[in-house]
Amino acid sequence: MAKIEKLMDKLVGLCKRRGFIFPSSEIYGGLNSCYDYGPLGVELKRNIKDYWWKAMVQTRDDIEGLDASILMHPRVWEASGHVANFTDPMVDCKECKARFRADQIEGAMCGSPGYKGRKASKCADEGKFTEARLFNLMFKTHMGPVEEAANAVYMRPETAQGIYVNVYNVMQASRQRIPFGIAQIGKAFRNEITPGNFTFRTREFEQMEMQFFVKPGTDMEWFEYWKAQRIAWYDGLGVRKAKLQFHQHGPTELAHYAAAAFDIEYEFPFGWKELEGIHNRTDFDLKRHAEYSGKDLSYFDDATREKYVPYIVETSAGCDRTVLTTLIDAYDEDVIEGEARTVLHLAPVIAPIKAGVFPLVKKEGMPEVAQKIYQDLKKHFSVFYDDGGAIGRRYRRMDEAGTPYGITVDGQTLQDQTVTVRERDSLVQTRVASDKLLPFIQEKMAAYKRVE
Ligand code: ATP
Repeated sequence: MAKIEKLMDKLVGLCKRRGFIFPSSEIYGGLNSCYDYGPLGVELKRNIKDYWWKAMVQTRDDIEGLDASILMHPRVWEASGHVANFTDPMVDCKECKARFRADQIEGAMCGSPGYKGRKASKCADEGKFTEARLFNLMFKTHMGPVEEAANAVYMRPETAQGIYVNVYNVMQASRQRIPFGIAQIGKAFRNEITPGNFTFRTREFEQMEMQFFVKPGTDMEWFEYWKAQRIAWYDGLGVRKAKLQFHQHGPTELAHYAAAAFDIEYEFPFGWKELEGIHNRTDFDLKRHAEYSGKDLSYFDDATREKYVPYIVETSAGCDRTVLTTLIDAYDEDVIEGEARTVLHLAPVIAPIKAGVFPLVKKEGMPEVAQKIYQDLKKHFSVFYDDGGAIGRRYRRMDEAGTPYGITVDGQTLQDQTVTVRERDSLVQTRVASDKLLPFIQEKMAAYKRVE
């Protein structure tokens, strides 16, 4: 446990120090479970979203993108079942007043400062908890200047519903036929009873969701297809295979509308936890929206002259959880030439900075050559120029930021126009002609494989 806490503590420290993730509103003492992404974090997150969009939309003919609004008609959440069922069982400790999710007592610690280090299960065994009662996780607000029940609206707890209500808008506008999908990245809000583990469970987060509409009877085939696609995606992201697994939902876990559900789980320092859910949602969603909206949401297949309500296979990933996963998975400490270093083995495709450019010394024309390389490469990908301090220290700073390549301009450069390219993971150094630098780094990035 001590070791686990240490890794998370170190990672949280690194995220703050290097500008990946800051606590929200920190100068006011922070806001529980809300975080801000700093300069490196925002790049990492954008790269992950771009990588997802490329795999799910850009390179596919059968998926279209969407960006629906966060606030939707309140009836949407009645139809979806969220008003009635999006609840977690909650218990209160009668003694210290701490609040827990009744199904997550195992492993939880008392949140009250006066009881630091006390296990919640101990209080449960001692009968200190109230009866469990259901707590709806949706954030409610009001539309317009008057706060009354009639104008209550919800902050969406998932992006999926924006896709369901737009299915025929998208289908007609893009001339898609079933089978086809709609993908969306956006914020979701859940008033979680016990957020925690840094950005793993927060109350405001981003989802990357894709809903694939299929003919009934073909749903399990598509379900298997999407399972394989989605786990392969994490491999491309550089996450170690041995740290990923599928978890099949048993009959007690399965949502009432789902015919099948698998989670992709990652082995976090705090246990195997869900990263993404893949669900066969049957025709539940479109049938419910048809019932609540009064609109016919069935599909007519011109080719076979059949009419049916499409089944939906969903892949629902958490963007912030993926960011956290890539950071945890990449974090490493080693010793180089007798000196300890902290390194993030981030895959180049998601690394916030792709290369550091360093003049060995700040004289003899080296800064001018290095600046030229920096300005040229910047047009193609994010590069960082650093001429401060010993070269070893500059390498370390880039290692800690997860920068895969370091380019050094030295005395030899001035003679033969070659530079040194240092690789973060293997520490191999290669001399490359400066006019071949761009293709050299691009090829390296494309061929990158994480050492497991
Ligand atoms: P959990 O069991 O962890 O509460 P869930 O099964 O409710 O998750 P889904 O509704 O399937 O999650 O949401 C899809 C994805 O959205 C999750 O796999 C996760 O990556 C992300 N996600 C859900 N809730 C949160 C949260 N509170 N904070 C960060 N990410 C979240």
